[in-house]
Amino acid sequence: MAQPQNAFESAWLMLTDNFTEFQLASIGSFLIHESVYFLSGIPFLLMEMYNIRKYKIQKKVNTSAAQQKCLKKLMFYHFCVNLPVMMLSYPVFKYMGFTTALPLPSWKTIGGQLFLYFIIEDFIFYWGHRLLHTKLLYKYIHSVHHEYATPFGLTSEYAHPLEILFLGFATIAGPALTGPHLLTLWLWMSVRVLETVEAHCGYEFPWSPSKFFPIYGGADFHDYHHRCLYTKSGNYSSTFTYMDHLFGTDVGYRKLKKAQAEAATKIVVKDNEASTDSDDAVEVVKSN
Ligand SMILES: [Zn+2]
Ligand SMILES: [Zn+2]
Repeated sequence: MAQPQNAFESAWLMLTDNFTEFQLASIGSFLIHESVYFLSGIPFLLMEMYNIRKYKIQKKVNTSAAQQKCLKKLMFYHFCVNLPVMMLSYPVFKYMGFTTALPLPSWKTIGGQLFLYFIIEDFIFYWGHRLLHTKLLYKYIHSVHHEYATPFGLTSEYAHPLEILFLGFATIAGPALTGPHLLTLWLWMSVRVLETVEAHCGYEFPWSPSKFFPIYGGADFHDYHHRCLYTKSGNYSSTFTYMDHLFGTDVGYRKLKKAQAEAATKIVVKDNEASTDSDDAVEVVKSN
């Protein structure tokens, strides 16, 4: 067995010495998922509760009854669907070459695998999500997720149990193909949760990831999907925007963005004209 090469690997060895691989892969993954999900989602819930409007995408807010309903159902689904799925998927991961052993994978390997997982997840999610927007699947399954037309972070995982299974499949397809190290799996799960909470947060900040990564969807992109009629919403991708662009399912969203940009330009021109008028007025006053 490889010996630890640094403090992080020593800490990792302590973890694997005290818990079985199954315990770490199931209960460990569940605890990490819950921590990342609630720690990243609760601030947006509080922002909505305290009516913080700056940077909020929609004017509407959810009632406290709607917020509580979301939290209660989430806890039920997390324990009754997510946890059993994590336990049952362990043999599949093991079969695909999953490991907890030292040495830990390099950052280069982790980065490459996470990038691949994002691409695979986004592809599966896009097509699955389009299917969920067909009449019957929407009526009986996906409409649950769309109960929240004004999403607030924690609504990201509010869905019908069958959709939770589909989301789980899209998330673990990449790792199952590569047979990752548990550390990579935990990091993947964490960034994926952060990404979906951000997409549902209901706020578009100047520092939102979509401002820095041109093909990243983010909050504004997915918020549009929630507030439109299900047959016209488009924007089906989970992470990136290129699939919707390629298959023409972002036409409505692009039109809206164009109209908003044109309206903003008109306001700037009007403001400039108004300030030029007032400058002229100052000149007139001075000359008098
Ligand atoms: Zn949808
Ligand atoms: Zn959503």
